[in-house]
Amino acid sequence: MERKADVVIVGAGLAGLKAATELEAKGRSVVVLEARDRVGGRMKPGEIAGEVIDRGGQWVGPTQKLLLAEAAKLGVETYAQYDKGEQVLWYQGTRRAYKGDIPKLPLLSLLELDRVVKRWDREMVTLPAEAPWTAPQAEDWDSQTLETWIKRNIRTSGARTFARIVTRAVFCAEPAQMSYLFFLEYLRSGHGVEDLIGVKDGAQEAKFKGGAHSIARRLAESLKTPVVLDAPVRAIRQDDEGVTIRSDKGDYRAAHVVIAVPPVLAARIHYDVALPAKRDGLFQRMPMGSVIKVHVAYKEPFWRRAGLSGQAASDHHAFNVVFDQTPEDERVGILVGFIDGDHVVEMSARGDNARRQSVISALTDYFGPKAAEPIDYVDQDWTAEEWSRGCYVAHMAPGVMTRYGDVIREPVGRLHWAGTETATDWMGYMDGALQSGIRAAKEIAERK
Ligand SMILES: Cc1cc2nc3c(=O)[nH]c(=O)nc-3n(C[C@H](O)[C@H](O)[C@H](O)COP(=O)(O)OP(=O)(O)OC[C@H]3O[C@@H](n4cnc5c(N)ncnc54)[C@H](O)[C@@H]3O)c2cc1C
Repeated sequence: MERKADVVIVGAGLAGLKAATELEAKGRSVVVLEARDRVGGRMKPGEIAGEVIDRGGQWVGPTQKLLLAEAAKLGVETYAQYDKGEQVLWYQGTRRAYKGDIPKLPLLSLLELDRVVKRWDREMVTLPAEAPWTAPQAEDWDSQTLETWIKRNIRTSGARTFARIVTRAVFCAEPAQMSYLFFLEYLRSGHGVEDLIGVKDGAQEAKFKGGAHSIARRLAESLKTPVVLDAPVRAIRQDDEGVTIRSDKGDYRAAHVVIAVPPVLAARIHYDVALPAKRDGLFQRMPMGSVIKVHVAYKEPFWRRAGLSGQAASDHHAFNVVFDQTPEDERVGILVGFIDGDHVVEMSARGDNARRQSVISALTDYFGPKAAEPIDYVDQDWTAEEWSRGCYVAHMAPGVMTRYGDVIREPVGRLHWAGTETATDWMGYMDGALQSGIRAAKEIAERK
C-alpha cells in the first residue's frame, strides 16, 4: 500500500537532510528515503587506532557560514587543523621542505604561478553566480579543457605542475577531463584557489570534534519522521495530482519530491514521464571525480618533533596530498591524505596490499624512515561505493556548462533538485550541500 507525505526526499546526505528539516519547520510532512543503511552519504564515520575519523567530508573553512552555523546549532564543535612547521613538496624526484604558503619551486615558476593565480582571480569574478554560462567569455572558456589552457598559458614546468596537483587535489579529476569554464566556476564558488587549498583562512582551517559525519547524524535525529534506510528509490512517476515514488521499502505518494543525490545517481532512477532532453543530457554529462581517502596511524606524531607540519604534496606519488590528523591529546599520530584522479583508477585495480605499500613508500619519502612503521591503516575507495560512484564531486567537460548548465536547478514539474552539485557557493562541499537543501525546500514552500 502507498504511504503518503507532502514531500518525499530522495537521499539522506546533508542536502536531503537539510531540505527535510526546513520543510518540517514549515509544517510539511516529509519522508526521507535513503539507499544506504546509514545517513550522511559522502560524510561517513570510521575508526583508526581507536580514534573516530571521517572517511569522507571533514574540513570546514571560515567562509562556510552555513556549515558552521548548522554545526553550532547541533552542538558539534570545531578545532583547528594543525598547521605548524614546514611543509613538504616532492617535486621532480626531490624532497623540498618549506615554510608558509609559497611552495619551494624555481623562481621563474613562482613568478608565473603568482601571475596565473591573479589571472584566475580576475577571470572567476566575471562569472555571474547564478548563471556562469552567460559570462562574456563563457563560450570560449567552455570550448577548451583546463589542460589545453595550461599548455597554452603556462610556460614553466613548476607552475604547470602546481596547476595539475591543485586540480587533482580539489576536483579528484585530471585537467584534461574538465572545461576551463567549469574550473573557473568552481574557483568562484570556492572563493578562489587560495581559499580552496589553504589551511589558515582556507577550506582546511578546522575540523569537527567527533567527526563531520556527526552533523548529518544529529540532523537526521532531529527529524520528526525517521529516515527510511535501505530504501533505494528505483522509479518516479509524475501525474497531474502528484508523484509516486517506488523504493525497495515500498511505494510512496507525495505532492513534491526533492532529489538530493549526485547527478550520476539521479540518472539511474527510472522516470516515467521521461525527463526533458536537456535535464537528462546534463545528468549524462556530469561524471564524478575519483578518490581514495587514506588514514595512517603511528605511535606518535614523529613529524611534529622534526619540525614538519605533516602536510605534503607530490607531482609523482599516487598518495599526493597529505595532512596531519593527530588527535588533540596526541595519544597517537595520524596522517590523512588522498589518492586522486587517474591514480585511483590504477590503485583500485592493484588491490589493498599494493595500495598500502604505495602509500607507505610515499610517506617515507615525505617524512623519513619512521613513516615505514605504522600501527594502523584505513582506506576508503569512494569509486567502489555504489551510492556515490566516485567523489568528492561531479565535474563538467567542455561544452556542458554552456549547453546544459542552465537547467541545473530548474524543477521538472513536481521534481526539485538538490545536492552539493547544484550549489552556487561552496559547490562540492558540505556547505554547498546545505545551501542546496535550503533552496529546494524554499522552492517547494513557495509553490502554493
Ligand atoms: C573523501 C572525501 C572528502 C571530502 N572532504 C570534504 C571536506 O573536507 N569538506 C567539505 O566541505 N566537503 C568535503 N567532501 C564533500 C562533501 O562530503 C560533500 O560535498 C557532501 O557531503 C555532499 O552532500 P550531498 O547531500 O549533496 O550528497 P551525498 O552525501 O552524496 O548524499 C546523497 C545521498 O543519496 C543517497 N542516494 C543515492 N541514490 C539514491 C537513490 N536512488 N535512492 C535513495 N537514496 C539514494 C546516497 O546514499 C547518499 O546518502 C568530501 C567528500 C569525500 C568523499
